[in-house]
Amino acid sequence: PDRITVSELANRMAERTSNVVRLLARLGVPSAAVDEIDQDTAELVLTEFGHNIVRVSDSDVEIGMVGGVDVDDHLAERPPVVTIMGHVDHGKTSLLDALRGTNVVKGEAGGITQHIGAYQILTKDKHKITFLDTPGHEAFTAMRARGASVTDIVVLVVAWDDGIMPQTIEAIQHTKAAGVPMIVAINKMDKAGANAEKIRQALLQYDVQVESMGGEVQDVEVSATAKTGLDQLIDKIMLQSEILELKANPDRPAEGNVIEARLDKGKGPLATVLVRRGTLKTGDIFVMGSEWGKVRAMVDDKGASVKSALPSTPVEVLGLTGVPSAGDPVTVVESEARAREVAEYRAGVINAKRIEQEPANLETMFSVLR
Ligand code: GDP
Ligand code: MG
Repeated sequence: PDRITVSELANRMAERTSNVVRLLARLGVPSAAVDEIDQDTAELVLTEFGHNIVRVSDSDVEIGMVGGVDVDDHLAERPPVVTIMGHVDHGKTSLLDALRGTNVVKGEAGGITQHIGAYQILTKDKHKITFLDTPGHEAFTAMRARGASVTDIVVLVVAWDDGIMPQTIEAIQHTKAAGVPMIVAINKMDKAGANAEKIRQALLQYDVQVESMGGEVQDVEVSATAKTGLDQLIDKIMLQSEILELKANPDRPAEGNVIEARLDKGKGPLATVLVRRGTLKTGDIFVMGSEWGKVRAMVDDKGASVKSALPSTPVEVLGLTGVPSAGDPVTVVESEARAREVAEYRAGVINAKRIEQEPANLETMFSVLR
């Protein structure tokens, strides 16, 4: 059908009708649940709710889900996406480096390893694990705010000698709110007098019960600098990953999220994209938040040029018209016209949201203009 009622559209997306009505109002198409809207409007709504649209024919669209259950037939195993969180100086960077088997901490500026905000390791039994190493928790928080939890597993690093600190608590709260399983890595176990039991006890206060305390949270004692406990940590990540049964369809237009983005003097806007489902290919036309572009080239975490990126793979993408934001959804679309339309529409919605949220700023702006 060319037209669809608002409630039917909401139904197909498994969204609340009231949320769809609110979005339509913002779009300048005030509608009630029983009203019919045309296909173009419906597609904009779908895209805005983070659904990938594939035109099956002129009169029908297939609706995909971002971050939800992938209903495709061709599901294949995908690597887990892991974020390391914890208080400052508890050893997040050191642990990421130890797991990667390099030392980016000391030679960050002149190092040969490409920094794209995420990397993959290959375990001894040939499984891949994707680690996000974006500075701080910003990307994670930004993505959470949009309801897209990019992370499958959180590794909470706690230095045994420092104990539970404010950012440890914050990380626990974020992780719980996102409903993401957590593995506790008790770090700095190489230091004299190491006492991991103290940490396990202290965690109980924050409702984190590790297995030895009768709970279900896995924990592991590590030393990022002495490189002990790393294999056990990897084993626990893989175990958790198996429980989660992480799967995605690689045979469809790519969807994903922006992990980080920047403006490079020579190359222009660059974005590191984590592919969530489908395969991202050079030549693909995409929308990232309210920016769009065509994949001119892609670089992997080792600095190698690649032509395609499978689910859970991080790649740096060249070919954007502007710099998107961390957390922005990435959607491959069928044409430049469509990309431009979605990007412009989103820019409008984003502006509308800003105006709603920041009346004070707007007033300040007007007073400056006056
Ligand atoms: P981040 O702020 O959480 O990223 O922490 P860093 O990785 O930058 O580490 C902070 C400090 O703790 C650095 O001086 C590290 O060398 C040190 N550190 C990290 N892990 C360990 C460890 O396992 N043992 C010891 N003794 N020191 C560590
Ligand atoms: Mg650090």
